[in-house]
Amino acid sequence: TPSESAPDEQTETVCPLCAVGCHLERGTDRTRAVGREGPANPNGRLCRKGLRAFDAVAADDRLTRPAIRRGGDPEPVSWEAALDHVVERFEGVLDAHGPDALAFLGAPHCTTEENYLLQKLARSLGTNDVDNRARLCHDATTRTLADRLGWPATTNGLSDLREADVVVVAGANPAARQPVAFDSFVRPAVNDGTTLVHVDPVGNETTRLADVHLTPRPGTDALVFDLLSALVFDADGVDSGFVGSRTRGYDDFAAAMAEFDRERARGVAGVDADGAERVAELVADADRVAVLTGTGIEGGAAAGDAAAPDSILNLLLASGNVGRPGTGWFVLRGLVNEQGATDAGCVPDRLPGHRAVTDETARARVADEWGFEPPSSPGRDARELLAAFGDEIRGALVVGEDPATSKRTTEWLGDRLGGLDVLVVLEVAESDTTPYADVVLPAATGVEKDGTVTNLERRVQRLRATGSPPGEARSDFAILAELGRRLADDERQFDYDHPGEAFDELTRVAPTHAGVSYDELGAEGRQWPFGGESVLYREAFDTDDGRAPFRRPRPIVASERGDGLRLVTGGRASDFLDDRAANDPVVRIHPADADEQGLNPEAPVVVRAAERDDEAAERTALELAVQVDDGVRRGTVYMHAAVADPLLRRDVETVVVESQSSLGG
Ligand code: SF4
Repeated sequence: TPSESAPDEQTETVCPLCAVGCHLERGTDRTRAVGREGPANPNGRLCRKGLRAFDAVAADDRLTRPAIRRGGDPEPVSWEAALDHVVERFEGVLDAHGPDALAFLGAPHCTTEENYLLQKLARSLGTNDVDNRARLCHDATTRTLADRLGWPATTNGLSDLREADVVVVAGANPAARQPVAFDSFVRPAVNDGTTLVHVDPVGNETTRLADVHLTPRPGTDALVFDLLSALVFDADGVDSGFVGSRTRGYDDFAAAMAEFDRERARGVAGVDADGAERVAELVADADRVAVLTGTGIEGGAAAGDAAAPDSILNLLLASGNVGRPGTGWFVLRGLVNEQGATDAGCVPDRLPGHRAVTDETARARVADEWGFEPPSSPGRDARELLAAFGDEIRGALVVGEDPATSKRTTEWLGDRLGGLDVLVVLEVAESDTTPYADVVLPAATGVEKDGTVTNLERRVQRLRATGSPPGEARSDFAILAELGRRLADDERQFDYDHPGEAFDELTRVAPTHAGVSYDELGAEGRQWPFGGESVLYREAFDTDDGRAPFRRPRPIVASERGDGLRLVTGGRASDFLDDRAANDPVVRIHPADADEQGLNPEAPVVVRAAERDDEAAERTALELAVQVDDGVRRGTVYMHAAVADPLLRRDVETVVVESQSSLGG
């Protein structure tokens, strides 16, 4: 049996606020966290946000009792009554509409074991309609990594970055978003001579340390990396030994590179020719190049954007920069357990350990352990499920997620959340979603629970409860295990006393997690796969023939630039802990664009959707301070996502910035 950690305020645990995974404990003043040395924060440092890791524990609006809503206000009830009610309502949906009328949404800030239980519960009831939001954040990147190398994850370890000659950061701002990792591994490397390249339309905290800043037009990252590959090719920077022994499809790729129109690519991407050549020379001359990417390369509706991960990987493969320390690809994940939630199989098309639900051998393997076989056809992802709420989806179990917050309109809330027969929400505090819930079950925060989380370098670390949740609140793990015992055909399928038992079960069904036990994770945690090394793919890739394929670059297509300035955002809309965004709402704009608009930098401006006829755009107009900044690319404006939220909810891509006087005051 895995050993329990007694809740103790001085217990060392892992910061639940981002995917770096720093170690901390509660300070003696009870309000502030104190850093402890861990693999991701070797100096015991915490960032501004991490220092406040215990804020959520003490929040005034903590939920402390289960509640059922029967029409009016929620009524506090006993756990027994609440769980009975959930079971009765879910069984009602199952009887009337079948298992695919139920949806299960997990969360990247819940533990791996909680996400594991949630997907097991969904599958035990006969549906693969289970997902978590993390999968969508880095979808194109992780799919590229999985399809072409083997695993949807960072290839190396953070400490490797000290060995890189060149670090390329694209579509990310790790100096602000993953600050302790940046300061512990990237900054010291740069101080020792590593060259830092930043590829981003907008300068930010990371740019300040960069030797070269390329500012492509938003949505042209794929083209920039294709151009860099072509220039590396010209500079004789292709590693022919690596390409010959470790990859396939190079001849086709080389032919495409020979024909690649470098001039046109530069023009369409709008990157400075000298800068691009300098980066290509750096890559060609370096022995070790690592790439760090964030959600900025995932793109949105812009044409060709989803191709960026393919182009980045082509560059790494052509230059022989995978499979050694100081090389590889770091996926700069945001939330604490984005990696672990997906590893646990809390996704509609993959079982634990990233095996396809269509893979019979994988299904048989989990069936042996679980005592039932999961359904074989892939379920719907979170976007599809939310769109079907109130229609085909009649009941939903939402664990630690708040679907009402992101890009949701009042109509959506009424039709979708309000249209469900039963909505059950596990939450630590009131959220935008809880008012729509039929049953709200009070849960524990990250520092009040045991289990594991997996950071952005695949390091599985143990959380240890530093105290008990308030009132009658319980960990999501305890709640899901109890629901499983009541809803599953055989209650023994959910017979867990402690998250460590679910972790040990995961090690038996998931190839990523084989070879270790919960107790063996130790104080420092371990990187998966546990039998291997920190650096993946030293000898071969985890593909059918052990080689990594090249992919042909997409054709160069100039995106049509409509009126207005392209909106670029950073951070997350839900980042309520980011003081600066909340207290200092600004829009950043290039001086030439500010001049063109006749903006007075001393006066507030109005930012609104470029489609001025759209009544909705009028309603989303924001009054902000303006910051004129030549670190912002011409033709774009930058805002924090929390500030830009009303625009993002409307999928606004281009905006106009006007002085208030032009609006008549
Ligand atoms: Fe917490 Fe991330 Fe800050 Fe570390 S970097 S203290 S994990 S928020």
